[in-house]
Amino acid sequence: MPALAIPDPSLVVLVGPAGSGKSTFAARCFEPDEVLASDAMRAIVGRDESDQAATRSAFALLHRQLAARLRDRRLAVVDATNVEAHARRALLQRARAAGMPAVAIVLDLPPDLVLRRNEARAGRVVNAAVVRHHLARLRTAVDHGLLEREGFNVVYRIRAPAELEALTVERRSPSAP
Ligand code: GDP
Ligand code: MG
Repeated sequence: MPALAIPDPSLVVLVGPAGSGKSTFAARCFEPDEVLASDAMRAIVGRDESDQAATRSAFALLHRQLAARLRDRRLAVVDATNVEAHARRALLQRARAAGMPAVAIVLDLPPDLVLRRNEARAGRVVNAAVVRHHLARLRTAVDHGLLEREGFNVVYRIRAPAELEALTVERRSPSAP
């Protein structure tokens, strides 16, 4: 697969269940300061990366940091499941307010693989029922073409594990064709 063209600056929204490989991909293809991860925010405002009780404050912090980055016209990658339409809508509003394009990278991998990788993960294993819920929400979003309709400028969908492993990004300045 050719490199994913990513406008720089832009908002990059990762979409995928727990265990789909969002954080691994983000760490490999983006700079640490570019990645805003909901789990990292939970560790700041809550007990640790798995503190679900801190979800609300964690996303409030993520949104504050995102707004600041976009205001400074710096690329931002949101590493959260983003399988729910309302979560994506809130992010898209930030991009629009800043006049920035929004790119979605959807990790739509085989459910069995995602469940296995979640179970095998060092550290935080998410309840399998929760991952199944993520998978179902993702299915709805993809099968109904929701992301395109929500207003993402570009939607990249990754379906094969080998495709994910080979994935690279190519930054494009806004003036580039
Ligand atoms: P996230 O929950 O979507 O952020 O997923 P992670 O990035 O934490 O990945 C979940 C698990 O799958 C981790 O144990 C990763 O090491 C593993 N993983 C992620 N991406 C890949 C991949 O491309 N290939 C393989 N073999 N394992 C991966
Ligand atoms: Mg993660």
